Amino acid sequence: MKAITLLGSTGSIGTQTLDIVAEYPEQFRIVGLTAGSNINLLAQQIRAFNPSIVAISNPDQLPELKALITDINPQPILLAGEEGIIEVARYGDSEAVVTGIVGCAGLLPTIAAIEAGKDIALANKETLIAGGPVVNPLIKKHGVKLLPADSEHSAIFQCLQGVPQAGLRRIILTASGGAFRDWPVEKLKEVTVADAITHPNWSMGKKITVDSATMMNKGLEVIEAHFLFGLDYNDIEIVIHPQSIIHSLIELQDTSVLAQLGWPDMRLPILYAMSWPERIYTNWQRLDLVKAGNLTFKEPDDQKYPCMSLAYAAGRAGGSMPAVLNAANEQAVALFLEEKIAFLDIPKVIELTCDRHQIDNRKDPTLEDIIESDRWARQEVIVASKKLHQKIAV
Ligand code: NAD
Ligand code: MG
Repeated sequence: MKAITLLGSTGSIGTQTLDIVAEYPEQFRIVGLTAGSNINLLAQQIRAFNPSIVAISNPDQLPELKALITDINPQPILLAGEEGIIEVARYGDSEAVVTGIVGCAGLLPTIAAIEAGKDIALANKETLIAGGPVVNPLIKKHGVKLLPADSEHSAIFQCLQGVPQAGLRRIILTASGGAFRDWPVEKLKEVTVADAITHPNWSMGKKITVDSATMMNKGLEVIEAHFLFGLDYNDIEIVIHPQSIIHSLIELQDTSVLAQLGWPDMRLPILYAMSWPERIYTNWQRLDLVKAGNLTFKEPDDQKYPCMSLAYAAGRAGGSMPAVLNAANEQAVALFLEEKIAFLDIPKVIELTCDRHQIDNRKDPTLEDIIESDRWARQEVIVASKKLHQKIAV
């Protein structure tokens, strides 16, 4: 039985991870849970999975959480704040930590888990995009495994099993095309928050659903693939595949291409990250190619999705630039969700922020550099978005 700690247990990745644990109680047990603010759901999860330790983001909610679970015996250790979440990540005998936190908030807990010798089942892509230059050497130093739970990277990882180290030539990431795949470019200026948080193929948290609509998600995944699999950016491509049946492909040195297929169901990549190198028998819906029908492919449109080019440019610039891109995107999406900027402002403020960072880009950033770049970029986006609005007013 594998002992698992889960960060972000109340989110889309978190609840699906717990569905897996509930379905396979002989394979997995939960050591620690962390969550943001959904105390009621967290209390139910504590009741169902008996973790030894739990942390929430906001210390003010601790009394409320305590009150909800007074009858549980034994009581878990209850912590709060960023320090509390970090403590859960490094705590006890868990072998793997599933990172279902959204955003760069996952960085320090992930580092703590690595330093405690735990394998990482990585859903929280922002951690690797911002922290790749620091996280990758730590993974090596502590001899732990970084197992991708993002569906595309899981597909690549699955295809790579048995491929010699030098065998990989090209990665082809598939993209659904997000909420506005079939919208003409001219209509994008009318996009509302409600439009952008609806995904055609996947049900996910709000931030990643907006990232899918701008296709920044795919851009971030290009950087994630670079850090996970070590390929040059020229050898990582994006192709639109609206059916989301092929989750990504790899080309080998001899031009042979391997793909991983399945219905769009996040439980599959999460399960593989938790069970690797084993395969667990499931009763989940099996792929029926005839039912799937046509599998089609299209080149992504750079004009319609400028975030993809911004991500490639930030990845190629390297250093602290991916951290700036990531933080600028997080802040821009947050402002969009608060209806403070328009959908088409998202790439504009990110571009302005990355441009301003060029002269300060730190080539071999330390963790402190990354944290500082992240903080700077968020502030810069707020300034840039105010400037945009002033221009509009003039
Ligand atoms: P979500 O918004 O549904 O859930 C996020 C979780 O993190 C929640 O439990 C929330 O309480 C917690 N959280 C949020 N902010 C926090 C903070 N500052 N400190 C501590 N905890 C915090 O998001 P999601 O869709 O589950 O995505 C989680 C991560 O997985 C993201 O990085 C996303 O890019 C990645 N991912 C998600 C999917 C998917 O299908 N949902 C697929 C691939 C990758
Ligand atoms: Mg993905």
